[in-house]
Amino acid sequence: MRLTFSGGVHPREAKDATKALPIEAFEAPQVLVVPLLQHIGAPARAAVKAGDKVAKGETIGEPGGFISAAVHAPVSGTVSAVEPRLGPGGRKIMAVVIENDGEDRWADGTNVKRDTSSLDADTIRNIASDAGLVGMGGAAFPTHVKLSPPDNKPIELLLVNGAECEPFLTADHRLMLEEPERIAFGAQLAARAVSAARIIFALEDNKPDAAETLEKAASKIPSATVVTLPTRYPQGAEKQLIEAVTGRQVPSGGLPMDVGVLVQNVGTCAALQDACAFNVPLIERITTVTGPSAGRPANLRVRIGTLYEALFERVGFAGAPRRIVMGGPMMGMAQGSVEVPVTKGTSGIVLLDSVPGDVWRACIRCGKCVRACPVSIVPSQISVFLERGYVDEANEIDMLDCIECGCCTYVCPARRPIVNWIKAGKAELAERRAREREGAK
Ligand code: SF4
Ligand code: SF4
Repeated sequence: MRLTFSGGVHPREAKDATKALPIEAFEAPQVLVVPLLQHIGAPARAAVKAGDKVAKGETIGEPGGFISAAVHAPVSGTVSAVEPRLGPGGRKIMAVVIENDGEDRWADGTNVKRDTSSLDADTIRNIASDAGLVGMGGAAFPTHVKLSPPDNKPIELLLVNGAECEPFLTADHRLMLEEPERIAFGAQLAARAVSAARIIFALEDNKPDAAETLEKAASKIPSATVVTLPTRYPQGAEKQLIEAVTGRQVPSGGLPMDVGVLVQNVGTCAALQDACAFNVPLIERITTVTGPSAGRPANLRVRIGTLYEALFERVGFAGAPRRIVMGGPMMGMAQGSVEVPVTKGTSGIVLLDSVPGDVWRACIRCGKCVRACPVSIVPSQISVFLERGYVDEANEIDMLDCIECGCCTYVCPARRPIVNWIKAGKAELAERRAREREGAK
């Protein structure tokens, strides 16, 4: 089998600074800012108000619909405000601000052992929903929704995603190395929820030590295997991982379930085991804080709602960072403030010592972006349209299929900011369609 996908690039991995560093528990700060929208879908509705006492693991936000996720108190303490605060997307979102009382007192019924042997599919889905689980690779799509495929889309394979293909990030690597049993246990529960007959754990060949620990954990599960893939970005994107492992191509506009596959990140599997086996909701995650401007890079176990500035006190600076990115440098989001909280999707925070140039040249038609594009669209032509503001024309040549991986921008010798233009083009199209829907009412 080929074990790869079309297109892609191999950027400098830059993982040496943290890949050998054990996960370190980061002490919960005095004040935590917990956004009510940390996921794809409708925001959660506040279930508390200023002045309320909360216990660790208590629900502070109820899901705002089926495609939404509950939010829980990451510490015990007192709610000091429910108000808009800056989120990682650069805009203010409603958040619950909690003064930590330092007691770490669990809510009744949480952090207690539960027998998982008799949990059926519906119960696992409900537990995932109650625990506020979302995809922890960065996409933050609600897990209970992914675990609820329609009857006409049977899932044959659970693909556990340990690719972690973004440069700099090592949070998943350390999790696979240090806590493979949590991942394996959660994967079995996810497979049970969708009746998947097979489980494949997939990671890249730049993590041979993690492959070994996962092999050991997987060997105890009938019909589970570990697949090691040649390192290539964006292998961790769902459709590319499916293509690399199974050779199946998810159709344009389709979902993994269209080819009988469910993809779950390793961190999500570990969180599912916590929720099912201990009734522990998603209140913390592992995040890599690193980059050329980080003084003492680290893999930290961090409570959701911890502000970046608290992490930077621990990590320190090696020179003033020119750019702070949430996630990896290829797909991550540049941050304009250090008063942004860690959310369920914060796989890493990268402190960079340079900013991308804002001078680009005309396309020289070298074709590099076309060869690098993993979804086989034509970034050069799309960029020519978007540079002139022709969004409809770009849309006609499949702009919406773009997964915003940034490979085209990475390889472009003319330094054309293609992925930024595409993001702006998609946003304009979405706004226009929303206006049209409003107008039609
Ligand atoms: S066009 Fe989109 S999917 Fe293709 S390489 Fe560029 S960012 Fe990636
Ligand atoms: S890589 Fe840049 S210069 Fe080359 S074809 Fe693509 S857009 Fe044009």
